Amino acid sequence: MHEVSSTTSSAPVPESLSPIIEVEDAAVNLGGRTIWQQVQLSVQPGEFLAILGPNGAGKSTLLKAILGLLPLSAGSITVLGHPAKRGNASIGYVPQRRHFEADVHIRGRSIVRLGLDGGNWGLPLPFLQRRKAHDAATRVQQAIDLVGAAAYADRPIGELSGGEQQRLLIAQALVTRPRILALDEPLDSLDLRNQQGVAGVIRQISRETGAAVLLVAHDINPILSAVDRVVYVAQGQVAVGTPEEVITTEALSHLYNTPIEVLRASDGRIVVVGQPEEEISYHAHSVR
Ligand code: ADP
Ligand code: MG
Repeated sequence: MHEVSSTTSSAPVPESLSPIIEVEDAAVNLGGRTIWQQVQLSVQPGEFLAILGPNGAGKSTLLKAILGLLPLSAGSITVLGHPAKRGNASIGYVPQRRHFEADVHIRGRSIVRLGLDGGNWGLPLPFLQRRKAHDAATRVQQAIDLVGAAAYADRPIGELSGGEQQRLLIAQALVTRPRILALDEPLDSLDLRNQQGVAGVIRQISRETGAAVLLVAHDINPILSAVDRVVYVAQGQVAVGTPEEVITTEALSHLYNTPIEVLRASDGRIVVVGQPEEEISYHAHSVR
């Protein structure tokens, strides 16, 4: 077989030839109910995907399926050429709604370090030679630098702001140098300035490391400039495309099967009108 090559430039072969995540006709059942089905999604290295949709639509479920934490009821998910499986070090994961109370005295740096040695943290590791310990410390520092947390990484995490804690949790997910970053509502509970700040940091990391980003968000607006494509989860279905393709009156009305209006404010903000806030469950018609 001959190789496809470019005759016009010496540019490297586009990475788009090999998707980092391939979701094919996938479905998940939970509690006897189909959460979503017929999901098709191909993610390229370095891509920044926003996962959007109402509460309960199945956004977290989609991340967990890619992480191999949930079985599929149909289809397949391939991550870096292998079936999705639990404990994949190629994926850095920040689960939903994690924050630290004010009385948590663990230093930020130790939280980041947890990403490297997980369950072993806090236990003496006599076999950990100097060299390995040095390498680990270097990786931790690099992750801290990537998220711009060097100034406060040695303070107790409970004393830090929500945005600072979130940056350190992202650093924890980065410490294994993952090819994929799966972030479940990392901007939740941050003020607008911090949402844009953290989103900018994630975009920058993706550019520097080539990691693909799957970021679950409530609002597209703070991340609009960072996003390559959106994955819109609603009504048991998923629509995938650029924001211009997916966040439109036509596409969302079709996805929700109800009239939705998408407006563009003069400052570029997207306003979605008529979107059901809570996903309607399978027995909702019997309520009220
Ligand atoms: P989102 O992240 O979009 O808010 P989730 O993915 O967390 O939604 O949940 C999707 C749906 O699956 C919700 O209706 C939720 O109640 C349901 N669900 C989540 N986990 C389970 C489970 N372990 N058993 C049964 N239902 C579940
Ligand atoms: Mg969720």
